[in-house]
Amino acid sequence: MEFEFWWLLIIPLVFALGWVAARLDQKQAMAEAKAMPKSYFRGVNFLLSEQPDRAVDAFLEAAQIDTETAELHFALANLFRKRGEIDRAIRLHQFLQDRTDLAEHQRHQATYELGVDFLRAGILDRAETAFKSLTQSRLASKAARQLLELYELEKEWEKAIAQADILRDLGAPIPSRDLAHFYCELAELCISRKEGGRAADLLQKALEVQPDNVRCSLMLGELALSRNQLQQAVAHWRSAEKQNPWYLPLIGEHLWKAYEQQGDIEGGLKALEEYCTHYPSIDLLKVWFAALLDHRGADEAYLKFRTEVRRMPSLLGLDRLLEAQLSQAQDDDKVQDLKLIRELMSRHTTRLSRFRCHSCGFQAKKFYWQCPGCAQWDAMIPRRVEELDFYPVSERPAERVKS
Ligand SMILES: [Zn+2]
Repeated sequence: MEFEFWWLLIIPLVFALGWVAARLDQKQAMAEAKAMPKSYFRGVNFLLSEQPDRAVDAFLEAAQIDTETAELHFALANLFRKRGEIDRAIRLHQFLQDRTDLAEHQRHQATYELGVDFLRAGILDRAETAFKSLTQSRLASKAARQLLELYELEKEWEKAIAQADILRDLGAPIPSRDLAHFYCELAELCISRKEGGRAADLLQKALEVQPDNVRCSLMLGELALSRNQLQQAVAHWRSAEKQNPWYLPLIGEHLWKAYEQQGDIEGGLKALEEYCTHYPSIDLLKVWFAALLDHRGADEAYLKFRTEVRRMPSLLGLDRLLEAQLSQAQDDDKVQDLKLIRELMSRHTTRLSRFRCHSCGFQAKKFYWQCPGCAQWDAMIPRRVEELDFYPVSERPAERVKS
């Protein structure tokens, strides 16, 4: 290919075009800056100098002048909500909702955000009104999800169940685990009102929604026991092993009592031994020890207990072992020493014997199906803090294979 001199013109031409483009960008940026109302910049200054109240006023003024700033207000209001300044978020969202110059979808968005503000502020009736007003909008599904949360917060279980149906109709995903617990909560209310039949129906519905819900089996067992149907009660409780064996500590005591009432001591002791072997837990071990003490004597009970504590050592286990030893020992100097050791240990074990939420870390002496800290269902596993720390559930043996 031959070199032609006119090609040399291309280089200065490219430079010239670049310079023109840069000038145009600069002009456009200056034009945009001029178009911004002064109150907008004042608002930014107030925000930077940590005067959010004055910043809000300045932004409100800017919004009255320039309708393009709606997105800025949404962002600002959400920022306030995140910081816990709900009243400011409400002011901004209310302002946006009342602006007739905004597009309909923007006003719907403001209503939705306002509903979330009211929900966070605990003004539940106004939150409900806001979300209900969006049933015909593009935000219907999101608003329906918020309404479900609201009814759950109010413990309006029937409304929450109906709301889950609405969500389903809207094609939104259903929180089946939560829904199963709503049925269980409603069933608990029925049991307290002596409506056993309705409670059983609700629990069956819960199992249809979530077949591996252990709480249902536990409650169905209790219902059967209240009707003196011992075998049925045992069958319900034993099904918990297939559903989720880590919840067996909640069932151990009920199960043993049912076996004992049937007079099937051997069956009951065997079931407890199997559970303690395959799904070790300090609470199950306690039930097994008490059962052995009553029916097999102190020596055998102590030996079995000691074997289990040696297999999975823990301070909680050692504490119970000392308790068992002390209950059998003669009162002498050695016993006094053991009592002192146990007393010192107890100061530590109280802390270790709590239950903990795996989601937010909330700890409680009592087991909760719904964590009081983060309101998540099934976030606590009925294992004591020490067990969770030393023998994490994920590292434990998987569900045993039935022979
Ligand atoms: Zn929690």
